[in-house]
Amino acid sequence: MGKLPLRARVATTLGGAAGRMSRLAGRGDGSVIGGVIGLRVEPDLLALLAAGRRVVLVTGTNGKTTTTRLITAALGTLGQDVATNAFGANMEAGLAAALGQAPDAPIAVLEVDEKYLPAVLAATRAKVVALLNLSRDQMDRAAEIWLVARRWREALAAAPGCRVVANADDPLIAWAAGAAADVIWVAAGQRWHEDSWCCPRCGSHLSRDDLGWRCGECEFARPPARWVLDGTSVIDSRGRVHDLALTLPGQANRANAVIALAVAEEFHVDAVQALPRLREVTSVAGRYTQVERNGRQVRLLLAKNPAGWLEAFDVLDQPPVPVLLSVNAQEPDGKDTSWLWDVDYRVLRGRPVFAAGERRLDLAVRLEADQVPFELAESVDDAVDRVDGGRLDVIANYTAFQQIRVALGRAA
Ligand SMILES: [Zn+2]
Repeated sequence: MGKLPLRARVATTLGGAAGRMSRLAGRGDGSVIGGVIGLRVEPDLLALLAAGRRVVLVTGTNGKTTTTRLITAALGTLGQDVATNAFGANMEAGLAAALGQAPDAPIAVLEVDEKYLPAVLAATRAKVVALLNLSRDQMDRAAEIWLVARRWREALAAAPGCRVVANADDPLIAWAAGAAADVIWVAAGQRWHEDSWCCPRCGSHLSRDDLGWRCGECEFARPPARWVLDGTSVIDSRGRVHDLALTLPGQANRANAVIALAVAEEFHVDAVQALPRLREVTSVAGRYTQVERNGRQVRLLLAKNPAGWLEAFDVLDQPPVPVLLSVNAQEPDGKDTSWLWDVDYRVLRGRPVFAAGERRLDLAVRLEADQVPFELAESVDDAVDRVDGGRLDVIANYTAFQQIRVALGRAA
């Protein structure tokens, strides 16, 4: 802290005090308000706080919070402090707060909102940027994803000292990362294809086969990968095969884990050292948490957009385990629920389905159209009371998820 210029010290101190006040007043964990005030006093606060640290930035539409957590866990083997925004506050104020709270940590692993990557990359001079995936999200306010990818290209081309770890199986990610001087390609898979039928370079149709994707017109094709996710195993950069055996469920988390292993290698943490740390991660900011409620086991899954819902369906227990779907359309969720029509709900047939949340009627219309039988539920407790078996899976979008967490006593 002593190394910081005076204004940055003042900004950090003021921000910290505001954060404590906010916590005392019961308004969340206080991290963002501290960062907001700090940045008002010193607009270059993020750059000043990042100076001299080895910074990793993690971005993409889905999996940012989990991948950030997995990288932090893997780097824990180094025995050094790691600054991180573990609770998903991923714009400049949240990042400044995370760095301000760990002034002496030599390493920072930061989740970054997609739109903010160019500014944050320039400010932090990151050593590594991890690019996960890009797909439609919050259609009423998010910038169009091809525009996001174009801005990433420009930002990465202007950051020659930065190494990029990127998912080669997502064509838009491959195009964005392709402008970087130094890329480690990871074959992490891509289940959602609806936003990548066209070549990002020339606009022609992309074809797919077992080897990946390629453009029918130009030379653009999936880059050869150094790390490969192969079912439940990973093939590392030296060709060794490891069973992932994560505690976190699903293919999306295995993809996140392989990206995390590739990032860890940039810090000379070997997959053999890192994997036991990754397996210790059981839940991430409430996601995948299992809570007992009135004798039932309730499991919480967060999904915010069509690709995320597809990944959440992959994680559901086998029928007849019931599922509660809860959808809101508040500011953080996006006000437009038309994305519900991009999700294929037919996989939910054959199990009890409950529809809840402030926009449960929008969901009901959608389920009706896919001929998925369902019942409306007033709340998570209402659904819990109506299930016979011992288990209930819950899939909720952002504010619906937070409401359910509170209802269940802020499940960790
Ligand atoms: Zn092309």
